[in-house]
Amino acid sequence: MLQCNAIYDLTHPMTPQMYHPTGYPKFTIYETLDGEGCLSSRIDTSLHMGTHMDAPVHVMKDGLSIGEIAPARLVGPALVVDVSPGYGPDCGKNLAISAADLQAAVTSTHHSLDAGDMIIVNTGWHRLYTSEPRRYYSEFSTLSAEAGRWLAEKGVIFVGVDCCDADEERFYAKPPYAPPNHKQNFLSKGICICENVGGDVDKVLGKKLTLIVAPLRIVGPNGNASPIRLLAVE
Ligand SMILES: [Zn+2]
Repeated sequence: MLQCNAIYDLTHPMTPQMYHPTGYPKFTIYETLDGEGCLSSRIDTSLHMGTHMDAPVHVMKDGLSIGEIAPARLVGPALVVDVSPGYGPDCGKNLAISAADLQAAVTSTHHSLDAGDMIIVNTGWHRLYTSEPRRYYSEFSTLSAEAGRWLAEKGVIFVGVDCCDADEERFYAKPPYAPPNHKQNFLSKGICICENVGGDVDKVLGKKLTLIVAPLRIVGPNGNASPIRLLAVE
């Protein structure tokens, strides 16, 4: 057994009851075949459903697919910062986390955020994922473009958010979409994005742990994202 204090699961459970935002197919688990003594089902889902990771090809034609991301970018030290006191669901609609507030949240952990680290930003919005999904998908707080730029300059390799998007809702008002964190700050620099972080994230606030990100190894342009199991080892 791995010697560690604790292993946390930061993944939302996947169920057919999961809300599916406009444009997403409903997450469906089809009939379980058990005629021969084994259960075997199939699923129909958007790759951006639940706790998932976006690959560079999501916004860049020539970008890496999820199956081409090097394993070294999927495991590493991660800082979990909490901005929920200023940006949670009780604080307002569609708030954009400033670089200064993000920096203050990093400082308050008393851990360093170094080049090569991963980061998870807790806005508090994950608490509405199941109970108030429409509000979760429309009124969420997330990283401003300047906060995204600051993270890219720090040299992080992975950014997770506990809301549905690493970019503000206003950037999706009209196609063609140009969400700046996806396009300029993160995916074009090889920084992977994880959205809908959930599970036990409230138990790891302020901690620096080892993150293990496990997407499906889908190659080609259709590998633009994957549902993941997101684990944090203390
Ligand atoms: Zn996505």
